[in-house]
Amino acid sequence: MASENKSIRYFKGVGEKRARLFYKLGVFDYDTLINFYPRTYQDWSKITQIKDAEIEQICCIKATVISPPVEHYVRKNMILYKFKAQDRSGVINITLFNNKYLANSLKVNNEYLFYGKVMGNWISKEMSSPEIKPVTYAMIRPIYRTTNGLSSAAIENVVRQAIDLIPDYDPIPAEIREKHGLCPLRSALKDIHFPKDFAALKSARDRLIFQELFFLQLGLLKLKDRSRSKTKIKITKDYTQEFIKGLPYTLTNAQQRVIKECVGDLLTDTPMNRLVQGDVGSGKTVVAAALCHTVIKNGYQAAIMAPTEILAEQHFDTLRKLLEASDIKIELLSGSLTKKQKSEILKRLSGGETQLVIGTHALIEDNVEFKSLGLVVTDEQHRFGVAQRGALSNKGDNPHLLVMSATPIPRTLALIIYGDLDISIIDELPKGRQPVKTYVVKSNMHERIYNFIKKHVKIGRQAYIVCPLIEDSDTGSLVSAESYYEKLSAGAFKGYKLGLLHGKLRPAEKEQIMRRFVNREIDILISTTVIEVGVNVPNAVIMVIENAERFGLSQLHQLRGRVGRGSHESYCILISDSENQETLRRLNIMCTTTDGFKIADEDLKLRGPGDFFGSRQHGLPDLKIADMTEDIGVLRQAAAAAKGVLDEDPELLMDKHKGLKAEIEKLFEKNQKLGFN
Ligand code: ADP
Ligand code: MG
Repeated sequence: MASENKSIRYFKGVGEKRARLFYKLGVFDYDTLINFYPRTYQDWSKITQIKDAEIEQICCIKATVISPPVEHYVRKNMILYKFKAQDRSGVINITLFNNKYLANSLKVNNEYLFYGKVMGNWISKEMSSPEIKPVTYAMIRPIYRTTNGLSSAAIENVVRQAIDLIPDYDPIPAEIREKHGLCPLRSALKDIHFPKDFAALKSARDRLIFQELFFLQLGLLKLKDRSRSKTKIKITKDYTQEFIKGLPYTLTNAQQRVIKECVGDLLTDTPMNRLVQGDVGSGKTVVAAALCHTVIKNGYQAAIMAPTEILAEQHFDTLRKLLEASDIKIELLSGSLTKKQKSEILKRLSGGETQLVIGTHALIEDNVEFKSLGLVVTDEQHRFGVAQRGALSNKGDNPHLLVMSATPIPRTLALIIYGDLDISIIDELPKGRQPVKTYVVKSNMHERIYNFIKKHVKIGRQAYIVCPLIEDSDTGSLVSAESYYEKLSAGAFKGYKLGLLHGKLRPAEKEQIMRRFVNREIDILISTTVIEVGVNVPNAVIMVIENAERFGLSQLHQLRGRVGRGSHESYCILISDSENQETLRRLNIMCTTTDGFKIADEDLKLRGPGDFFGSRQHGLPDLKIADMTEDIGVLRQAAAAAKGVLDEDPELLMDKHKGLKAEIEKLFEKNQKLGFN
């Protein structure tokens, strides 16, 4: 449509100055203008009788002017124009402020529409400064997002001109439109701005929401479909039962189901591309181990990538134990190796002697080579970008890919963000886990909390205290980790072994402190949220969170997940002096549920998707009209439709898909430049 894409300056009433205001709103040309959807609508089509108009209600009245506007001089710069208007049911007094032009344009005995808030009382009703339109304007009126100097009405005037330019063109093939009951694009665009009734508006919205999610899904699938090409890796036998039999515990049903889903992928010649989501402690590691085991028994190598050294070390220890019975050669590629040690490991990897390697992003360095990489596992996926995930895959010839995440993301978001991944969920904790006892308390409980911590430290346990900020600032009562650490070491916890952990430390320093905590050289760790990533310290049983109202629910849930990992009873204490009912309700959700997905859903409702992934961060286009909390049904349909299209025509080369191809290229243009893929 490039030939038709006129600049915003082309439209009547848009000069250089106004164009700049449009730019501010992200409107540059016909295309961005026509896709600048109204924020809301005024209903000028529903006429309220004057006698039925309720005081304080905003409504549209259709009435005849029965007295000429009379000028009342109040003071300089304040002139009122008063007149009466009447419909069959009654009379209303209208007042206009300083609007001589409008007052003079009204004709006695003519009928007009008046839109505004009704004031006065039931005997004498009034409207102050209503909007006034001719009766032909009985319609649903668009209200646009505005900027200083550019009113919604002004935008409406320009959009009205653009409507005449909409070509009779539709990028969505007719068969998909029919299947999903979508109206043509042209009428959708007309009706999203100027619907004749609410049914038309709904059908326009349905179409545009579907379209938005459909293009997004298609783009994601298309951008990432490289990994979908066939793999030469041949996993022919499933050894997972053999592995499972040797475990010291019984797997949960959810773990077994997820293993089965993954093995189903492994046995095909299309590489697995799967996200396993499971709450902290749901037992993802053993699932990964089972799959590594089967892949290795089939003669291939496997790699597990963790976001930090400590996590990599912990995985190494765990996997070594889990795979003890099978003589699989495991190595840890850690940052603390000497050059010589490292080069020997690399040699054994490229020679195929090492069958399973665990490491940090050191694994994706250029000098790391595999003989026959069959499976790549990335843990705590949200810490890695799509690019890093891809880099490790590229070390093999289309290896199977397993992504593990402990951040329960609402399913809607997961579908969008991981559009290319199949999703398995471990929605069950191993038997016998005691839920972490959670309390919301006020800060006057500090003394008791300190004593509670001391009691547990004396019997050999450890505790976390989390604060929202690193340094003191002028934000009043917010507790900062640094000054809190100093205060506690000199005061309440004098003589105890305290540690301080925050994001401004260098990674090596952070790891050092975490390691000391793991080794029990630190009893009480005072920290900002940097401890979020899944380090396992089963001996830590208390999690205190200061200024808990400052955190999102999902974040609180992640923090709470640091305790309750061993056999000891564990506690999470949320400290907040907030009086805000909504905040307290939010915090109390933490006391009543331990289900990370429920919590994530609440968070999405309360705070929007930004908390999970800033859209900038993951490089997805913004959604203009679809709502991720409400449109999940449409999202599923759109995802299925996108998959259908690509199954039929992977490169979008067919004539009927030309339009789709163009739309997707447009949508992802920017993102590709950002290295989205
Ligand atoms: P996460 O999903 O957070 O990565 P882990 O894999 O670290 O969880 O598992 C947490 C703990 O639960 C580990 O100590 C592990 O040995 C144990 N575990 C895993 N699965 C089971 C099970 N089915 N029964 C009992 N304990 C289990
Ligand atoms: Mg884990």
